[in-house]
Amino acid sequence: MEKPYFRKDLLSTLEGKTPARIPVGTFTTAPVLDLMDLSGAARPEADSQPEKMAVLAFSQYANASFETLRYPFDTVVLGEALGCTIDPGTKARTPAVLSGPLDSSSVVPELPADLLERGRIPAVLQATEILREKAGSNLPLIVGMEGPADLATYLCGATRFLKWTIKRPHIITRLVELCTDACILYARECLKRGADVVVIADAVSSPDMISPDAFRSLIKPGMARIPKALGGGKSVLHICGAADSIIYDMAECGFDGLSLEEGIKDLKSAVHTAHEAGAAVIGNVSTSRTLFAGKPEDVKREAFECLQMGVDVLAPGCGLAPETPLKNLKALVEARNEFCGRK
Ligand SMILES: [Zn+2]
Repeated sequence: MEKPYFRKDLLSTLEGKTPARIPVGTFTTAPVLDLMDLSGAARPEADSQPEKMAVLAFSQYANASFETLRYPFDTVVLGEALGCTIDPGTKARTPAVLSGPLDSSSVVPELPADLLERGRIPAVLQATEILREKAGSNLPLIVGMEGPADLATYLCGATRFLKWTIKRPHIITRLVELCTDACILYARECLKRGADVVVIADAVSSPDMISPDAFRSLIKPGMARIPKALGGGKSVLHICGAADSIIYDMAECGFDGLSLEEGIKDLKSAVHTAHEAGAAVIGNVSTSRTLFAGKPEDVKREAFECLQMGVDVLAPGCGLAPETPLKNLKALVEARNEFCGRK
């Protein structure tokens, strides 16, 4: 591979250093149909077969020129391993949770001893080894997983989760503890097998879903345990929506980077707060409005705005819609090239 600096640049960015060039890629899911067609690896097989998962992940670099290999392509792997029933989805539809083991029980189980052997976890671990071999030390492997609040919601259902945060917070505390332990165990194994960065994606932690106070008292203590438990492995926290009111708390959790969505109201001050705490900012071109529905020139315009606001890694704000056109992913890379060329 001819460009050995992508991994080095990304890792030094997450260490708070200034890289040779601002990295461009994705920290959120990116299984777009164009990449499935070009690579010959499509879901649902690429969600559970390690070789296909690796091929589709690698196509982010090979076909879109992204400087990250982000996988797997859904955020229910841990939920499935902890007993949720899953709809496996189709080529254009992401796997989703149908029901969870706490839908009709309030007894929080223990962390299963064989967690790493359950569901599709072995497939993700094997894909990690394949990708490490394929990428050598040149491209960074970014493994994503659902965070503690999302996982808790899968286990007991969204309605119960939101009700319990108010009426039975002691159950939520126990449940989040279990889910945090599951994230840590799985994340550590991914890093051991060769992943460079773990992304914890937690949509339910967003102020759009639970109050900032509920995040601080019920989720944050567990969330802050994750980066410290990874033995020096890099970690990034992604929280969706208008996360402005919890940016300080997110930064305080100790992740190396924060991945933010376009829902952020004041990106400039979010960047400032993150940098003060030593976290890089990743984002945040709109996946729905711009990358999915816009033209390449719209992508470039918005990418320039993000770069001017000081993002450290240019990336989509959240998971990409399967129908997102490849030319818009390429426009993201071109925008970074032009921006860095000008500076
Ligand atoms: Zn998101």
